[in-house]
Amino acid sequence: QSEKLSIIGQLAAGVAHEIRNPLTSLMGFTKVLKSKSTDQDTFHFDIMQQELERINLIVNDFMTLAKPSSHEFKNGNIVEIFKNVISILETQAIMTNVDIKKNYMDEVPLIYCNENELKQVFLNIIKNAIEAMPYGGDVTITIKEEKSGKLHIEIKDQGIGIPPDAIKKIGKPFFTTKEKGTGLGLIVTQRIIELHHGCFHISSNGIKGTTVDVYLPNLSQLTISDV
Ligand code: ADP
Ligand code: MG
Repeated sequence: QSEKLSIIGQLAAGVAHEIRNPLTSLMGFTKVLKSKSTDQDTFHFDIMQQELERINLIVNDFMTLAKPSSHEFKNGNIVEIFKNVISILETQAIMTNVDIKKNYMDEVPLIYCNENELKQVFLNIIKNAIEAMPYGGDVTITIKEEKSGKLHIEIKDQGIGIPPDAIKKIGKPFFTTKEKGTGLGLIVTQRIIELHHGCFHISSNGIKGTTVDVYLPNLSQLTISDV
């Protein structure tokens, strides 16, 4: 699986890089043309902008798949990472009546990480949780420390859950059950967690929502060779 991801990652990053520049000019000029357009044309420009935005989303996911050239790790604060991610998703949560509950241990230890990449990880997971609850509910984020010293982060929702046949397909590129999904979020997530020497598990009993568990080594557990 890891080898497969690395090949997909290299290919994806190459393609994404090539698409990015032409995409930027298409987005820019579409905006210019829309501002000069008649009412009737505006409708078409709106669609063009939405579709370009969708390509942009996919390209961005592709870029994250590849290991960035400067894969910088620092001591990071997971609580700060969550604060940032929650502030980004707050509006979307409020709009669908989703309550984000925090259940953090006292004095969460620092972890050796790339903060931006971990933000992407938890953004993907919490976004999925919110999207699984179109009629509202709770997302509960629990941070605790395992006996082994690993940090255990659990993200639990009360959403539609994942049927057993679908759970097998999770992590396969482009597997999505959403009209506007890319099916890349969890692949990116998996890849980043792997680069952090952690692991990730998703489970669902079908009706009572979904739980995602992420385990990350804390600072003292990484050896020099891992870094
Ligand atoms: P996308 O969100 O673009 O569909 P993801 O890789 O993030 O892509 O997720 C893949 C699929 O996994 C989703 O389309 C959905 O079917 C399922 N999934 C992921 N997280 C959840 C969740 N919390 N509840 C229900 N289904 C989920
Ligand atoms: Mg997603």
